[in-house]
This record gives sequence, structure tokens and C-alpha cells, in this order.
Amino acid sequence: MSVFSHPEFDNHEQLSFFCDEETGLKAIIAIHNTNRGPALGGCRMWNYASDEEALRDVLRLSKGMTYKSALANLDLGGGKSVIIGDPRKHKTEDLLAAMGRFLERTGNQYIAAEDSGTSVPDLQVMNRFTHNVAGVTERTGIDGLPCNGDPSPATAYGTFIGLKTAVRYKLDRKDLTGLTVAIQGVGNVGYRLAEHLHAAGAELFVTDIHEEQVQRAVAELGATAVSQNEILSLDVDVIAPCALGAVLNDDSIPLIKAKVVAGASNNQLASQRHDLMLRERGILYAPDYVLNAGGIIDVFYERVGHEHTKVRAHVETIADTLTEIFTRADTQDRPTGEIANELAEERFMK
Ligand code: NAD
Repeated sequence: MSVFSHPEFDNHEQLSFFCDEETGLKAIIAIHNTNRGPALGGCRMWNYASDEEALRDVLRLSKGMTYKSALANLDLGGGKSVIIGDPRKHKTEDLLAAMGRFLERTGNQYIAAEDSGTSVPDLQVMNRFTHNVAGVTERTGIDGLPCNGDPSPATAYGTFIGLKTAVRYKLDRKDLTGLTVAIQGVGNVGYRLAEHLHAAGAELFVTDIHEEQVQRAVAELGATAVSQNEILSLDVDVIAPCALGAVLNDDSIPLIKAKVVAGASNNQLASQRHDLMLRERGILYAPDYVLNAGGIIDVFYERVGHEHTKVRAHVETIADTLTEIFTRADTQDRPTGEIANELAEERFMK
């Protein structure tokens, strides 16, 4: 398994491989860049088909965190960790404790947070052995309500701010009354985004693989239920992908009628060239990792003294960053995703 010549290797500062025979823990920690501060990123547990797949994931995701934190104006670098194993079968308290001990050994350069396959209680177990864990303390959430560390409310609020900014820029609309929005996936983030939009007067169209989530949005928010196949091609003002990655691709883009794409899901573009494809079709794409940074902003504040009003104000700066991206993209006639990456590099490269 090559590392330095791996296609996803991007001058990562540090890679650490851990094995604990007693608990069966096999994990990798990748620190991509710490120019702006310690690397913060999720600890993912996944049933990877191979070690190679786990390495690819951790290299790619840790780099993504450097870009996300830089664009969110946080004094943080980018890192990620992966535990190789099925969270439903292999996750034990002893294994999580071993991970906590490994995090401690890495020093203060990587801080782990919740991710796919790990939960706040799992991170709390690790936290017994290290301080290099974030998103584990009870606090007042961004909405002023008690919160157990779940970053979804902050992510949803940031996505709402980003969506409003994109609508204002592209459609010249400040008021969301009557704005039509199609949301793909009404889970932790998507449902909360729907609540914000409903409160602002938007008309919602929703889909999800879990029917009860859809029915809740219909009953509580007056949303219209649509099929999974038609959500992205609806004749609406905005589509908000909040479920899966790679949904903006050769098949979906030609069918999009909305003028704005603004959602929370990670890695919406199937490949970098789809960024240009959207621009050529006159569709404004609000880069996903700019919109969904609310969660990392929220987690960051846990470490520097959590005041929910400050978190909220910081999340609202997503609007300024996006406006800068949209303006540069138009001035230079280049796609927004490309501009976002360039702006991030300006912020984290020395
Ligand atoms: P979630 O699992 O709570 O919600 C996702 C929803 O999408 C679920 O209800 C699921 O049933 C639905 N879904 C799955 N496949 C679907 C499909 N084919 N069509 C329609 N719906 C489908 O996850 P979440 O925490 O709400 O995160 C949503 C997205 O936002 C993910 O891509 C995640 O990586 C990203 N994100 C989340 C956060 C956060 O704070 N939770 C932060 C940054 C990015």
C-alpha cells in the first residue's frame, strides 16, 4: 500500500497507523495541514472493504477539513481519523477506549469529533483517555435550546444562511415568501433546514427513503411529498441536497430546472468538472463545504468557551464568504467550486 505516491496524498503532514491486538482496533489518523491551528475532524468507523479504501478515505477527508475550516475562518487545520470495522458489530467500549489512548499519543495536533459510525456517547468514552476530542459536552445549542453536542442544528442554520445568500445573489430575492425549495433528505440537517425555510415562508417539496420523515414534513411544515427520482428535476427555485454525495452528475445536471443548488450534503459534485457543467447551464452552485460548515464552527467553540450567540454570529459569516465566492466566480467567469478551493488555499497556505 503506497502512501507518498497515493493519488489522494496531498503533502499531508502526518499519518499514524494504530493497531491494538487486544481490542481488535485498527485505525488511521491523518493530519493534512496545521498552518491555521490543530487539525479537527471526525472519527469515522466504517466497514471498509480493504485497508486501501480506508487510507483513501482518510487522506481525502482530512484534506477536505483543511479547506472547510479555512473557509469558515477558524483557527483550525484539517484532519480525520478512521476506525476499520463495522460499527454495529465491532464497536465495543474497550475498542473506543483504545482509540482514546491512541488519540492521546498523537499529541495535541489532532482533535476527533463525531462522524459516520460514531456517536457523542462513543466520543465520551474516548474522552476519558484524552482531551483531544470535541463535541462531547452539554451546552446551549445555536437555537438557545439545550444540546448534547450534536452539530446538526448549527449545520442546518448555516445551510439556511447560505441558501438565503445564494437566492439573494442569483434571484435577487431577499424575502423567501413563496420561494419553492426541493429538499433531498429530511434527516438531522434536512429537516431542520426545512423548519427554517418554512418559518421564512418558503414552499417545500421533500423526499426521503424513510417515509415517516416525509410524512412528518407534510404534517408539520405543509410540505409536498415527491418521489426520490423526481426531486432534483422539479420545477422549483432551489434544490437542496441533504442526503447523499455525488448527486450532481452527468445524469442529473441536464434535468435540473432550479437556478440555485444549495444544500448540506458533502461532496455533491460527482467530479470537479460538474462544477463547470452547472455554471454553463446558468445554475448557481453554493459549494457544499462552505454551506455545511456550521457544525465544525459549533464544535470549535466548545474548545474556546461556548457562547451560543457567538457561534450563531460566526455561522452567519458563511454569507460573506459565499458572496465573495459568487462575486469572484462572475468576475472571472469561473465555477464557484473552483473559486472556493482557491480562496481556501489563500487562507491556509503560508
Ligand atoms: P441523516 O442521516 O440524519 O439524514 C440524511 C437523510 O437522507 C436520512 O433521513 C436518509 O433517510 C435520507 N436519504 C438517504 N438516501 C436518500 C436518497 N437516496 N433519497 C432521499 N433521501 C435519502 O444525516 P445528516 O446528519 O442530516 O446529514 C446530511 C448530509 O449533510 C450528509 O451528507 C452529511 O455528511 C452532511 N453533513 C452533516 C453535518 C451534520 O452536522 N450533521 C455536517 C456537515 C455535513
